[in-house]
Amino acid sequence: MKKTILITGGAGFIGSHVVNYFTDKYPNYKFVVLDLLTYASNIHNIMHVEGNRVGWKENTFFCKGDIRDTDLVTHLFELHDITDIIHLAAESHVDNSILTPNIFVDTNVMGTVNLLNVAKEFWGEGSNKRFHHVSTDEVYGDLELDEAPFSESTPYDPSSPYSASKAASDHFVRAYGRTYNMNVTISNCSNNYGPHQHKEKLIPVVINKLMSGEKIPVYGKGVNVRDWLWVGDHVTAIDEIFHHGKSGHTYNVGGDNEMTNIELIKQIGVLYAKYKNGGVMPNEVDIPIEFVTDRKGHDLRYAINSNYLQTNLNWRPEKNFEEGMIETIKYYENQRAIAGRSNP
Ligand code: NAD
Repeated sequence: MKKTILITGGAGFIGSHVVNYFTDKYPNYKFVVLDLLTYASNIHNIMHVEGNRVGWKENTFFCKGDIRDTDLVTHLFELHDITDIIHLAAESHVDNSILTPNIFVDTNVMGTVNLLNVAKEFWGEGSNKRFHHVSTDEVYGDLELDEAPFSESTPYDPSSPYSASKAASDHFVRAYGRTYNMNVTISNCSNNYGPHQHKEKLIPVVINKLMSGEKIPVYGKGVNVRDWLWVGDHVTAIDEIFHHGKSGHTYNVGGDNEMTNIELIKQIGVLYAKYKNGGVMPNEVDIPIEFVTDRKGHDLRYAINSNYLQTNLNWRPEKNFEEGMIETIKYYENQRAIAGRSNP
């Protein structure tokens, strides 16, 4: 079936991988990418390069705009006859949410409700047109070190303004599904790593500090545990859930790859040293670390049980961590070279 999918937040980290994957895999669909191009985005990550020509793939239309702008979203529905939505646009940095929570409420909650309202208006109640919301495992709060990982029935207990705003938007998506019989799905995913992530986030910070030889800042004692998933594996999960997930259902997505922050930093340091040494492990690796004041309300541990997704749909995390991290290191090294050429 032909579709015209509105992808919001397509110029962000995960959104850019969704756009590149979907526009290649589904040449017969049409894609409308809506992104406000905030500081976290990079439009170049989704532009199509052919020889000297940089532009858009034939099946892709890009609009710079705000998911909170009802007139604009309505206009996009009218112009393109949108049949489905994959919604990723969000304010996504926990530290920023502690400093300026209001923009997280505006974008993540009000923006999501605006999209739901316009979709309901155009599609009508009981439509089979799909609204997929990309969300986070942080809505579940945190776990003790010995507790079982989050499942889809774990009660919501968000700790930060970011996770509270994502929890609220999940509730609205689910409520519109139930109240207006809309065809909604939600994916709650663990931490992603890979190319295109904004330099404010932990892994880009670690790689950039390794490249510059500066100390790597580590919150608290570095004992907080996260489950790291290759961004491409998140995208294939979104593809599977978007196409085959059951309406009204939530799917947890995780990498079965738990690490404390300090373990993660050491692993990246070792892989970086090996990569710089032509793929051979050097005898000694020095990883300069500096412990800094802990993040307010810092969640201790996130861990995801993705059995429901793995047993009901056709998905597994595929990427080997070392391979994915080397690809990520190469990406940030290349970005640094580009920045060096433009600021000699
Ligand atoms: P990101 O910050 O890299 O990208 C967000 C994108 O949304 C940016 O391109 C930005 O310009 C756009 N945007 C922000 N406000 C907008 C608005 N008002 N209107 C239109 N566009 C707007 O974020 P990300 O890491 O790619 O995360 C994407 C989604 O996935 C988010 O909803 C996030 O909550 C969720 N998520 C992220 C992770 C992760 O590890 N990064 C894990 C699980 C879930």
